[in-house]
Amino acid sequence: MLHKDIILCPRCFTPHKKLPLAPKEEARCVRCQALLYRYRAGLEYLLLILSTLSLLCLLIANVSPLLRINFGELSAHALLLEAILSLFDKGFVFISFFSLLVLEVFPWLLMGTLSLFATLVLLQRGKIIAKGSLILIEIFRRWSMLDIFFIAILVAMVKVYQYAQIHFGMAFWALGGFVLLEIYVIKSIRIEELWELWERRYEMA
Ligand SMILES: [Zn+2]
Repeated sequence: MLHKDIILCPRCFTPHKKLPLAPKEEARCVRCQALLYRYRAGLEYLLLILSTLSLLCLLIANVSPLLRINFGELSAHALLLEAILSLFDKGFVFISFFSLLVLEVFPWLLMGTLSLFATLVLLQRGKIIAKGSLILIEIFRRWSMLDIFFIAILVAMVKVYQYAQIHFGMAFWALGGFVLLEIYVIKSIRIEELWELWERRYEMA
């Protein structure tokens, strides 16, 4: 029996022999009933829809104003990238670099690779590229911290709110939408499911 045919229960570590499932079936631990793996029908479509929506949110977050601040007579609004660059100008080099990674680089990379993977798997083309993108997805997922960052921004806003009037722009809500989609993608779709999807789709081809 090959090593990859054995699966350990994530809760009680009982080993199980892996058997192929039919669509919508799931395998549970014989001892503690924990979910081992499942065959989610139409996962490739779900992935494509979620990643496309996320990319759309990111696009809106970058082209529309993030927020407008009224401070007495003064009023200013900023785009997301402008806000990040202004941090750099003010000498917050580390924070601006970190923001660039968390708010721009990794979200684009994660959702871009995910939509590439979903498209290739749907078309049953580019087996090796799809495999490579899965490996990248595993890496980018670990770097997705936008949700934590978003909460940090909210907390900071509450503080600024005491001194100035803030109006959240379209980009702010788009970022919020992205965070919800990203949490759903990361928490509800396990990376093992994606590997199984990859095996299944290219075996069929
Ligand atoms: Zn178990």
